[in-house]
Amino acid sequence: MAKFLTDSPRDIELAGKLLRAGTLVAIPTETVYGLAANAFDEDAVRRIFLAKGRPFIDPLIVHVPTFAQAGSVADTSNPAAAKLAERFCPGPLTMVLPKKNCVPQIVTAGEPTVAVRMPRHPLTQKIMASAGVPLAAPSANPFGYVSPTTAQHVQDSLGDKIGYIVDGGSCDCGIESTIVLVGEEIRILRLGAITREEISECLGAPVALSRGLMEAAAEGARGNDGARAQLAPGMLKKHYSPHAQVCLVDDAEREFPPLLGEVRRSSSREKYAFVFQKRPTRLAGAGGDFASVENVFWLSESGSAADAARAVFALLRKLDAAGYEKIFIEKCRDTGIGAAVNDRLSRAAAK
Ligand code: AMP
Ligand code: MG
Repeated sequence: MAKFLTDSPRDIELAGKLLRAGTLVAIPTETVYGLAANAFDEDAVRRIFLAKGRPFIDPLIVHVPTFAQAGSVADTSNPAAAKLAERFCPGPLTMVLPKKNCVPQIVTAGEPTVAVRMPRHPLTQKIMASAGVPLAAPSANPFGYVSPTTAQHVQDSLGDKIGYIVDGGSCDCGIESTIVLVGEEIRILRLGAITREEISECLGAPVALSRGLMEAAAEGARGNDGARAQLAPGMLKKHYSPHAQVCLVDDAEREFPPLLGEVRRSSSREKYAFVFQKRPTRLAGAGGDFASVENVFWLSESGSAADAARAVFALLRKLDAAGYEKIFIEKCRDTGIGAAVNDRLSRAAAK
């Protein structure tokens, strides 16, 4: 069991001291919980990969308090970087920029670029100030499993591998940062809490998605054969996955009733869950009020995509813990943060 630290000045000082000395500490951020280490300490960074079972070819994000401090690990001279930083930092945006020599190769998986983020969570800011060094931190979950959005999630899946977890409550965004490659070309490498529309608007031109992202969406859309799963930097088709099998549907009000009927008629003992985006109303043809069925869940009360983002990982973990073997989930609408929710769902559904 890892020890929980609080937001008290004493615990924040301790977290900073531990991090400086090369100890791993799981920390809250506004996106998801991160497993942090001093980015300049190669041995500490190696322990992140080992604790997560993460392949060394998957680079980490380096966290710093301000855009000015991003300049200590990356070349921030690209005018687009300053524009994005002014609008979105601190916040759930990660920029991939040319790296400086001080960043160890292990952090960037040998790439000449480094991913940098400035979290806005007040407690993350305090921990970074206390540590006084840039923090390399991927999400604090075993590689490939659902990301953690509470301190208890970290305890549940990594508590036997790490010593300390700072408890900052539930994460505000609930899904990871948006990653933007800021080079000669500007591209979104991972959809996230800041939308593609917002980034395009900030830069004054439509920003493209990386090919891996479009492929993942296409795989999810056709239920996916999983045969071409591969690891580009961090862009595994199967990721964020619960142990239960995940199946996506476009329209729950139409598709769930017949599925539910089939499940009731079948002799299979598998446990099924049905997840709506929005709290369901009475469904015609469902033989009653769908909302009263015990294996029916929803990601938001009103259909808000931001609420769905906040809830999605916690619900997948809850359903795993409750022993569901198959989860039918309705897709979110595919704009704004809904596109990022769908990206996570299609990777969770990939085989
Ligand atoms: P995680 O922190 O687990 O949410 O994952 C961080 C992700 O950042 C990785 O999986 C990569 O997709 C991305 N990333 C980090 N560094 C780089 C880089 N130098 N170039 C491209 N992508 C990166
Ligand atoms: Mg991750």
